[in-house]
Amino acid sequence: MHSGRMNNDPWNRPRPPTTEPPVVRRNAPASAAPPKAGNAKTCPNCDAVVSPKAFDCPGCGHPLRKARRGPIGWTLKWLFIAFNLVMAVLLFAGLGSVGETMNTATSEAERAGTAIGATIGTGLVLVFWMAGAVILGLLVLLTRPKK
Ligand SMILES: [Zn+2]
Repeated sequence: MHSGRMNNDPWNRPRPPTTEPPVVRRNAPASAAPPKAGNAKTCPNCDAVVSPKAFDCPGCGHPLRKARRGPIGWTLKWLFIAFNLVMAVLLFAGLGSVGETMNTATSEAERAGTAIGATIGTGLVLVFWMAGAVILGLLVLLTRPKK
């Protein structure tokens, strides 16, 4: 198995010291303690022992398991962002058009009608916005990767 190289841990070599003296590895600190043998998992890229909960190999950054947020999750996340943007644009566009109608309205009735319509329209957009944001937000949370 060994091809003559004496370094038995080539992937976890300490980097050459720059200013600090090299760290002598005696007992591994608790934070760097390897996971229990039963749960141990090795990186397919560098064979380092990694935590089974790790998404990426801490040594080489190789992705170990796919995050739960698949294409659907990402789509939902962007849909959520896009939805909020569209709703904001709709709201401002609606308010803008109301202002124009108000300026060009000739009769009091037309002004009143526009005001009422704008109130209902804006309210509907807001209600739709809130409902959509809550539903999409929940879906985004549900498709979140579990850590
Ligand atoms: Zn690795």
